[in-house]
Amino acid sequence: MGMRKLLSRFLGEAMDVLLPPRCPACTQRTDGWPAIFCPACEGCLERAPGPVHTTGADCVDLLVSPFVYGGPLARAIVRFKHSGLPALGVRLADLGIGCVEMPEADVVVPVPLHRRRLAERGFNPATVIGGRVARAIGRPLSLGVLLRVRDTPSQGGLPPAGRRLNVKGAFAAAGRSGRVLERSVLLVDDVWTTGATARACARVLLRAGASSVTAFALARVA
Ligand SMILES: [Zn+2]
Repeated sequence: MGMRKLLSRFLGEAMDVLLPPRCPACTQRTDGWPAIFCPACEGCLERAPGPVHTTGADCVDLLVSPFVYGGPLARAIVRFKHSGLPALGVRLADLGIGCVEMPEADVVVPVPLHRRRLAERGFNPATVIGGRVARAIGRPLSLGVLLRVRDTPSQGGLPPAGRRLNVKGAFAAAGRSGRVLERSVLLVDDVWTTGATARACARVLLRAGASSVTAFALARVA
């Protein structure tokens, strides 16, 4: 484990005070610049067009996503997830939430990680983002609703059909799934690629009695 990761695990946001803030994409120092990214990287952020309404046959009604995945934002998301920087995730989530009209819902549910991955990483990126989403819309973040029962290989590099198979049966209702009964759910993930993961979660939520499922992802693949 790198020193920065080790420190950030213990110090969280105090890291910003101890180490000067740097752009999470290009690592250039950003002293005096109030935004997360340096001006050059911020200028390269690509806003996603408005929310995606899906057809009636889809189990996810709506996808709200502030950014297109790529460039500086992708580099920042990778650092947030793989360098153990939940505080960076909080800032990225707040940036994204501030760029879109947030959908209404009764409860917020993050896409779960398998417990083995959770132990490796120390946190679930979707829960970090979900916490900020819940705060923004004034609704509870419900953990323990969904369980990732299979430790699926990374979706990266798989074609859409392969992604659907990869997550088939990967999720199940957990002990607190009663919390979604007759409730509208806002399902939160970091990145929406083909939507296979979100749809697999949505099917479980609807079977558990959720009245509808909408999705929020920080970024979506164009
Ligand atoms: Zn930068």
